[in-house]
Order: sequence, then structure tokens, then C-alpha cells
Amino acid sequence: MAEGLFTESAERPQLIGSACGACGLVDFPAATHCLRCGPPTNRPSNSATAGRS
Ligand SMILES: [Zn+2]
Repeated sequence: MAEGLFTESAERPQLIGSACGACGLVDFPAATHCLRCGPPTNRPSNSATAGRS
């Protein structure tokens, strides 16, 4: 398979949301801050396996 067809630098091919570490609210699309309680959100980091073969 040809590599380089998908860019993973700026935007990943997968949909990524953000999860608040304080209240657990998942914002989609990813937000920099929790829409509920305010603090910066954490991004799930277990979605880097897509496209691997
Ligand atoms: Zn929150």
C-alpha cells in the first residue's frame, strides 16, 4: 500500500474528541476547554492504530 496518502500530522483520519479530566464530559469535535466546567480537556491517545498494516 502506498504511504503518504493520509496525513497524520495536522489532522488524523480518525474522528477525535476531547475528554474532560474533571467531569468526564466528552466534547466532539475536540475542544480545547471543557464546555461544562471550563478546564483544558485531555485528548484520548489510543487512536493511533488506524491505517496500520
Ligand atoms: Zn469538565
